[in-house]
Amino acid sequence: MYRKKQNLPVIHIDLCTGCGACAAICPTAAIALQGDDPFLKAPEKCTCCAECEEICPVNAISVPFTIGWAEK
Ligand code: SF4
Ligand code: SF4
Repeated sequence: MYRKKQNLPVIHIDLCTGCGACAAICPTAAIALQGDDPFLKAPEKCTCCAECEEICPVNAISVPFTIGWAEK
């Protein structure tokens, strides 16, 4: 059995250019823009797919990964 916790995306707003690509690609509409600033509008909808991280042209989003240990 593996323990798993949800790792929500972290947005580094100082790097963000406000292009909107992350909000456009998010399959669950968990991330949205307010003005030029992306924010996690619906964290409960985030599936941690990391598509927002992959598409961001300036690496302003990171989705932390989890290291799991098998339990005996
Ligand atoms: S990790 Fe996936 S589901 Fe979560 S905000 Fe990013 S694109 Fe949307
Ligand atoms: S894709 Fe990156 S640069 Fe574009 S709005 Fe999202 S966080 Fe900002």
